[in-house]
Amino acid sequence: MKYSFLTLITAGAILFASCQSKSQTENSANKDSAAQSTKTEASTGTPVDVSKIKVADAKTILARKQVPILCYHQVRNWKPTDGKVGKDYIVEIQNFKDQMKMLADSGYHTILPDQLYAYLNTGAALPSKPIMLTFDDTDLDQFTIVRPTLDKLGYKAVYFIMTVSIGKKGKFVDYMSKEQIKQLSDEGNVIGSHTYDHKNFKKYAGKDWEEQLDKPTKKLEEITGKKMTEFAYPFGLWNAEGIPELKKRGFRMAFQLSTKRDEKDPLFTIRRIIASGYWSPKTLSNSIKNSF
Ligand SMILES: [Zn+2]
Repeated sequence: MKYSFLTLITAGAILFASCQSKSQTENSANKDSAAQSTKTEASTGTPVDVSKIKVADAKTILARKQVPILCYHQVRNWKPTDGKVGKDYIVEIQNFKDQMKMLADSGYHTILPDQLYAYLNTGAALPSKPIMLTFDDTDLDQFTIVRPTLDKLGYKAVYFIMTVSIGKKGKFVDYMSKEQIKQLSDEGNVIGSHTYDHKNFKKYAGKDWEEQLDKPTKKLEEITGKKMTEFAYPFGLWNAEGIPELKKRGFRMAFQLSTKRDEKDPLFTIRRIIASGYWSPKTLSNSIKNSF
């Protein structure tokens, strides 16, 4: 299993399709409803006490304006071997820096899962122009390039780790070590689970739950010393049948890509858009406005 996946990684372009699913944009009917009207202490980074929060009913959650969430993979310069599709998943270094600068110049404040959870369930205030940045698949450049870029802007992010790749070197991509993941966590970022080896969540049966959910959770909790409460679906693909399995294991939110949210379990089908390697900061800015 392990090796077949790493072989897949070295196949390069195939992996870049990894977090992809057919991009559909949910028509956000709630675009104009409340949300950002309130700003407060959340913007100063005061920790949110989420332990007392009761999960709101689905309708309440669905009625709140969605917080934009961006999904990134590799941040590095394109190589001649990168395929056309792959480049959607590879944001070049200067472009990434420019994208982040655009966010900062536009007044966006990054938020983390605790704040999102409190907001969606209780309507707790968020900073003005909230946004969440997420990075999938454990790529090393998320530590070497993304981390210092975000640090300069005072931004924090969520890193969804696929545990099979921790500390591995691939032909085209290297991956973060345990120590680097721990450092990201210690520095106030959030580590979430992205399964063991990126197997399609919709196909889990039998031992898959243990392999893809339980073991990775245990490993990430050992590395970070923190409880795993966030999950990102491989390829963004999910099904309603699997959601109880996530709940049973203590996850409180799960992130897909940009398909419609589940009517019953919006917290387990939170939408993200892939920030494409082809996008200029301006295109990204427009996509954020149009997609959430
Ligand atoms: Zn992924």
